Amino acid sequence: MKLTALGVWGGYPTRDAGTTSYLLQSEEGFNLLLDAGSRAVTELEHELSPNDLDAIILSHYHEDHIADLGALRQYRQLQTVKPEILPIYGHQENEYEFSKLSLENVSQGMAYDVENGTSVGPFDIQFLKTVHPVTCYAMRIVERATGQVLVYTGDTGYFAELVDFSKDANILLADVYFFKEHYTKYSHMPNHLSSVEAGEIAAQANVKKLILTHLPQVGDLQVLRDEAQEAAGKIPVDLAQPHMKWTV
Ligand SMILES: [Zn+2]
Ligand SMILES: [Zn+2]
Repeated sequence: MKLTALGVWGGYPTRDAGTTSYLLQSEEGFNLLLDAGSRAVTELEHELSPNDLDAIILSHYHEDHIADLGALRQYRQLQTVKPEILPIYGHQENEYEFSKLSLENVSQGMAYDVENGTSVGPFDIQFLKTVHPVTCYAMRIVERATGQVLVYTGDTGYFAELVDFSKDANILLADVYFFKEHYTKYSHMPNHLSSVEAGEIAAQANVKKLILTHLPQVGDLQVLRDEAQEAAGKIPVDLAQPHMKWTV
């Protein structure tokens, strides 16, 4: 599988980059968008036509993860040759937000099964509810053909189950919105992970790579990375940037 960063900021876009959005591509060419933050459409165009997306999956309905859904649907709606109806997977615990995923002849809201998991194209996906002000799910995405595993934390504060959920993943893509100083001052921060927490989860779960995303707009990001690296030990830690790619 191949993962490409499209948007990497938490909360709001700035400095020519958008908020959370990632393209996950299988060996056989299935194109899955993980969250659809701001700028997702125009960043996606540098990788492939937005008409070639096969599905979208959403961790939750905060604006920084769905900001470009409308733009993406307009894009597909206005093509002369209409692409197929786009499945958009989300949780059903907010009925209003879930209902907005469907648009006639353009997209179809699909509720994922948070208990038993859901298959999306070549991927089998398990879910874990996170610690966040609105309902949000972390995802453990397994490519059936290869057994490769990507764990995406969605937005979350620290909780111990994240370690088991991330066990032995090839990639852990983690929401890291806080520096170490926040972590030590207030202990565990609510809503998002700190650099240290993400590094510790990566080490305890024995993942092969940790990628930091949902980045804070204020502060030195190299410091954020170094803090996570210190906690992660030998596990390589990357700071996500738009159009960085990782092949598992
Ligand atoms: Zn967010
Ligand atoms: Zn959020």
